[in-house]
Amino acid sequence: MTDQPTTGKPTTTNTGIRVASDDQSLTAGTQGPVLLHDFYLIEKLAQFNRERVPERVVHAKGAGAYGELVVTGDVSRYTKAKLFQPGARTESLVRFSTVAGEQGSPDTWRDPRGFAVKFYTTDGNYDLVGNNTPIFFIRDASKFPDFIRSQKRLPGNGLRDHNMQWDFWTLSPESAHQVTWLMGDRGIPKSYRHMNGYGSHTYQWINADGERFWVKYHFKTDQGIDFLTQAEADETAGRNPDAHRRDLWDAIERGDFPSWTLHVQIMPLTDAEGYRFNPFDLTKVWSHHDYPLIEVGTWTLNRNPQNYFAEIEQAAFEPSNLVPGIGYSPDKMLLGRVFAYADTHRYRIGTNYAELPPNRPRAAEVNSYAKEGAMRHYFAGPEVPVYAPNSFGGPQADPATAGDEGQWNFDPEMVRAGYIQHAEDDDFVQAGTMVREVLDDAQRDRLVSNVIGHVLDGVREPVLSRVFEYWTNVDPEIGKRIEAGVRGARTTGRD
Ligand code: NDP
Repeated sequence: MTDQPTTGKPTTTNTGIRVASDDQSLTAGTQGPVLLHDFYLIEKLAQFNRERVPERVVHAKGAGAYGELVVTGDVSRYTKAKLFQPGARTESLVRFSTVAGEQGSPDTWRDPRGFAVKFYTTDGNYDLVGNNTPIFFIRDASKFPDFIRSQKRLPGNGLRDHNMQWDFWTLSPESAHQVTWLMGDRGIPKSYRHMNGYGSHTYQWINADGERFWVKYHFKTDQGIDFLTQAEADETAGRNPDAHRRDLWDAIERGDFPSWTLHVQIMPLTDAEGYRFNPFDLTKVWSHHDYPLIEVGTWTLNRNPQNYFAEIEQAAFEPSNLVPGIGYSPDKMLLGRVFAYADTHRYRIGTNYAELPPNRPRAAEVNSYAKEGAMRHYFAGPEVPVYAPNSFGGPQADPATAGDEGQWNFDPEMVRAGYIQHAEDDDFVQAGTMVREVLDDAQRDRLVSNVIGHVLDGVREPVLSRVFEYWTNVDPEIGKRIEAGVRGARTTGRD
């Protein structure tokens, strides 16, 4: 056996005590039992057993890096948020991810990609937890667990199942726009660097005079949009399952820092009611022609993490992290996520997850009354009171921030209902526009071929007939081509 080169540092237990051996347990004689008081052996095995935290129930596989937002435009008439003021520079952390796969799944499966950004602002952390698509499959958080289960695994055999996916999609016609997007070229980006990011939801911006606007965020990749064909993605999945994590890491290591230009669309508050689409419906976009993009700044990734687990796996992004100048909107998915994200972090990493290095503020102070709980290590001085109100100089809430979480008018009756229908609202209309007016012939051909390949992989009646109807509703010609392709392949035995 070759000797390990020495660093001069002795191995210790987790509490700094030198250990006698890195590789031999304490036994009673050379053939005797292993002794329970070999504390270092016990610590080593026990620590190993506990190395994993539960993987994220969605967005389990990801990659991340640090960067900076530099504001080059002037949107100060729309928001007082400090990070968006002219010339502001803000440190940032991103985590890109796939949605449905598990931690070890290939990066190149067809799936939307998470695009979660944390900005370490002087007003506390601001998280914009978006995707690489401007829309989503559903518009009410109460359907989210059902949607995700349909994209994961069958209860019996633990297999993924396209029949289950199309069953959910065709019974949820609001998914048509996102499914059209997913089955097109952008459903498998070439890398995380070659895709746009979108805040997706509608948010509210509030300016220094208290005026309010609706806003949507668009991060446009400066590397250019690029994609993998289904065949390229399948080949990459086998050869290099971590292709996208590796690509991001390598680009930053060689100093080829990826960047995105941040734009927003702004809608005056009073436009919302009369807009042709419900502007709070997450399955719809606002047309660029109606609300043109306004440039905000450049966001660049320039630093890799030093420890993937500590900085990326334990990073916790939550739409509830909003700073003054940015509020919510009546988007029901967004309002559901405001609860769900912080809740999942408490389960996945623990009550005090906000104390961990990627999650704690870097440019703002924490003066919270939160105390104790598992793994607490931050504490205020012994004289700082742990309750409010108090007579001993504890922190006090700032009434000037009231309303910063967003304000809008609503009918106070309690209901369980869909969204208010606007003039052109229909589940298929924007998907049809994409197919007919955005895609060219080659892109349409790949869309048809991707859907046929996906459906041939296990979709059965009665779901199959609904798939044809679904695509006919998106576009009659595309529907016809998909049905002919699937039925033709089945009769020739290619299924
Ligand atoms: P535009 O012609 O101005 O916008 C079309 C947009 O489609 C492009 O700007 C681009 O978005 C996006 N796009 C291009 N190729 C693809 C593709 N293969 N897959 C998905 N998206 C693609 O018209 P409108 O703004 O009126 O939108 C028309 C349709 O375009 C919508 O119904 C929607 O389906 C789609 N779309 C619209 C977006 C929006 O925010 N308005 C964003 C994305 C898609 P980008 O500039 O973000 O790269």
